[in-house]
Amino acid sequence: MAGELYVVATPIGNLGDMVPRAVDVLHAVDLIAAEDTRHSGRLLKHLGVDTPLTPYHDHGDDKQLQRIVSALESGQKVALISDAGTPLISDPGYKLVREVRLLDIRVIPIPGPCAVIAALSASGMPSDRFSFEGFPPHKATARIKKFERLVKETRTLIFYESPHRILDTLADMAAVFGSEREVVMARELTKTYETFLSGSLMGVHQQVTDDLNQQKGEIVLILRGADEAELSPDDDEQDRILKLLLDELPLKQAASLAAKVTGGQKNALYQRALALKE
Ligand code: SAM
Repeated sequence: MAGELYVVATPIGNLGDMVPRAVDVLHAVDLIAAEDTRHSGRLLKHLGVDTPLTPYHDHGDDKQLQRIVSALESGQKVALISDAGTPLISDPGYKLVREVRLLDIRVIPIPGPCAVIAALSASGMPSDRFSFEGFPPHKATARIKKFERLVKETRTLIFYESPHRILDTLADMAAVFGSEREVVMARELTKTYETFLSGSLMGVHQQVTDDLNQQKGEIVLILRGADEAELSPDDDEQDRILKLLLDELPLKQAASLAAKVTGGQKNALYQRALALKE
């Protein structure tokens, strides 16, 4: 009989957030697959868990994946953990879970901490519809392009960001989404220096510039979505035309023709066409 794969969330800072069921599972399984075995070794030691560890990374060699799949096929129970939070959420695990499910082996989630959900739940931002966008691209040009594609998104937008890029990212967001768009920066969640900064993109950029402490630690950015009422009715018509053209023409030609038909800007329509295609 095939084994079972448990996808186990671990704390994002405060070890008290480790859920009891997760601890039971880590004790009970035959093997724990971890992003960084040394890092996870410390957590397991703290929990008194001595289950053997094996490395797993989605971009690692295939042997890592095969080792885990073989263990599952031989009837073993395996837990997948990442360095912090929920595996697969900007962390390794997607390839493994996909493969294991294709093999009809049971995958069982053990829910727990996750920075995106913790940040959103306490941010005061609309939480009924949101889009988690992961880390913005590191390079400015790609980052700006990514933001341009999201400019008309009405759902709350959530990003992870490193402290080294936080100022650049806030500045690029202000340039693309407008300096008055509301943002919440959630930092060091569940830890001693947990902070929520909120205000306009320009205002939060200024607060982070003025206070070097805000340029440290782990960060989630929560950006208010575009205001439905402010989106011009022309936008819907523009999208309708673009979609029709995209069905028949390559992207560049569709954008160019849409610009002629609607009188819109070619570059903006090109970016919009890219977003629609995605
Ligand atoms: N899988 C994790 C989860 O469930 O949240 C996320 C892993 S991702 C590699 C790490 C990023 O998550 C950090 O760079 C930061 O953006 C965010 N993050 C993780 N822990 C956090 C915390 N305690 N406070 C704020 N952001 C955090």
